[in-house]
Amino acid sequence: MDFNSFGLHPDLLRGVAELGFTRPTPIQEQALPAGLAGRDLLAAAQTGSGKTAAFLLPILQRLMGKPRGKTRALVLTPTRELAAQIHEHLEALAKYTPLTGAAVFGGVGMGPQETAFRRGADVIIATPGRLLDHFQNAYAKLDALEVLVLDEADRMLDMGFLPDIRRVLRHLPTQRQTLFFSATMPAPIVELSRDMLRSPEAINIERKQAPAKGVAQALYPVSEELKAHLFLELLKRGEIGNVIVFTRTKHRANRLSDFLEKHGVPNARIHGNRSQAQRTEALAGFKSGRFRVLVATDIVARGIDVEALEHVVNFDVPHLPEDYIHRVGRTARAEATGDAYTFVSPEEEKDLRAIERQVGKQIPRRIVEGFDYRKKPAERFEVPIQERIAEIRARKAEERARANAKAE
Ligand code: AMP
Repeated sequence: MDFNSFGLHPDLLRGVAELGFTRPTPIQEQALPAGLAGRDLLAAAQTGSGKTAAFLLPILQRLMGKPRGKTRALVLTPTRELAAQIHEHLEALAKYTPLTGAAVFGGVGMGPQETAFRRGADVIIATPGRLLDHFQNAYAKLDALEVLVLDEADRMLDMGFLPDIRRVLRHLPTQRQTLFFSATMPAPIVELSRDMLRSPEAINIERKQAPAKGVAQALYPVSEELKAHLFLELLKRGEIGNVIVFTRTKHRANRLSDFLEKHGVPNARIHGNRSQAQRTEALAGFKSGRFRVLVATDIVARGIDVEALEHVVNFDVPHLPEDYIHRVGRTARAEATGDAYTFVSPEEEKDLRAIERQVGKQIPRRIVEGFDYRKKPAERFEVPIQERIAEIRARKAEERARANAKAE
């Protein structure tokens, strides 16, 4: 399935393509048809699933061609960072349309936000507290509102925002489309969703994934030759979101990056052979969300600091336990939750045992149901160094022979 099948406006498809999205994620595949049809949604989906585009695209599609100057969509989100991130995502998706958004959150001046209300920004992305502050003023009317998104509802609950949400709702038209997103569905969230939604389409993407706090570590036993395929499978299933994947060597980093490229996964690579400019660009692209995957070698592991990183994948078991611990520490900063997955081939079991001793526990092992562990890949993943050198020599010899032939 690709993005062309949803009937999206060509100008939105251009934005999607420019972000490097080739295939919809599972949440997008399921949420887009109902969202575009104007239905309410109740979606259990985590950050990293692609949920932002899943709610922004139906909003933008609905607003295309409508008279402007009125705020027709509101996205409620728990934190400033998320509001800023969603705003950025919206500007990227809407790049080839006249539609614009405005982020409304605390800690910055009210003035520019007041202007956004007065000129009727098409979409307002707001945290509840600051929005309520604006509602005290006559300029902050959302009478023309057509779509409301509640993002990360369970986090709103954790942060004590539910009373604020109910207060915000009193300022909004009741005739509207509501898109409700939450990673988990505790009872108060279910109750809130019942009050807010009308015969919603229910989507549950990550039912199996427990709401882990802190870093969840897991091992994926897999043969050397199938590691790249397994990685691709986990990406496709949405089981890994934005991810740094570490390989043992530069060659392996290049091979993995090429493999992902071939399978339509936007990615960047950083390792010792890349210039500082290339590294900076790769990291910036990853942080901004342009690439979902950053392929890196051990060398650069310590220089990377990415906020809200969801996953680290050790494509190879690190030789040193310290490296493992350091890398796993990249995820789950602050209150963000992160996962650290390690692919283990039979040859790497020994290094793994040293790590488990250091961590002081056995790391759980996971088998990916439905993945063909006996598959014989058409191509070898790693070309042995001797063969690579022989190939380079042969190429050089050929070039020399050609140059000589020309000179004669
Ligand atoms: P979200 O869960 O919306 O925060 O998205 C997580 C990350 O996935 C963001 O960096 C998005 O840019 C990226 N993303 C969303 N949809 C897709 C897609 N269809 N293909 C590739 N990357 C995507």
